[in-house]
Amino acid sequence: MTARVDEVCYRDAYARRLEARVVEVAAADGPPFVVLDRTLFYPGGGGQPSDRGAILRTADGRAWTVRAARRLGGEIVHELEAPEDGELPAAGDLVTVDLEWARRYALMRTHTALHALCGVVWRDYAALVTGGNMEPGGGRMDFEFERMSGELVAGIEEKVNTELQSARDVRVNVLPRAEAFAIPDLIRTKVNLLPGGIEQIRTIEIVGLDLQADGGTHVANTREVGGIRVTGYESKGRINKRIRLELVDPD
Ligand SMILES: [Zn+2]
Repeated sequence: MTARVDEVCYRDAYARRLEARVVEVAAADGPPFVVLDRTLFYPGGGGQPSDRGAILRTADGRAWTVRAARRLGGEIVHELEAPEDGELPAAGDLVTVDLEWARRYALMRTHTALHALCGVVWRDYAALVTGGNMEPGGGRMDFEFERMSGELVAGIEEKVNTELQSARDVRVNVLPRAEAFAIPDLIRTKVNLLPGGIEQIRTIEIVGLDLQADGGTHVANTREVGGIRVTGYESKGRINKRIRLELVDPD
């Protein structure tokens, strides 16, 4: 982790706009990208796609669309849509970072919903997660289940909705590695995905339901998710079963 970039999304998922300075601009091959000294953009990972949005130059209001962000050499870089006139921001420019908030917020709700699903499946069926992915408003998770039926899935849906409606707080913590690994069941994925060198482990806790090592952005309370609807389930192998869900907006 570099000290050059302040990565706000990990401590404040609700920040939508901030001022930043352009640190680096590159357009050698492929789409142009910029590095900022502070950013709101989530670079993607853990099944959560990266944010989109824009940066606006303070001096003249010139805007560039950020079509994706990703981590490159440890830093979050913002991939810009190449402007027709070819003009790019310059290192040193002051800009406003503007997230596409509706999309990010839908991803936060979706990500928390998937953790609630994980929490219920682990608590009641002791099934490990083997994979997952999401888009704004819907996602899928794969679990180690030998058998899955419509009845089982309907039961899981009902339990997840009960948990979401219980208005459970969702907390972010950053713990030293040793302390994090002392928590039972923290790593719920079949394969431990945490690289060896990481000193600090970020955790997401749905209080009273689920606690996982996780790098994503989440809502602060499960009531913001609303509910879920299971839209399908399928077998992805002898032991792997997939559950698909979509969000149901809160009343
Ligand atoms: Zn997650």
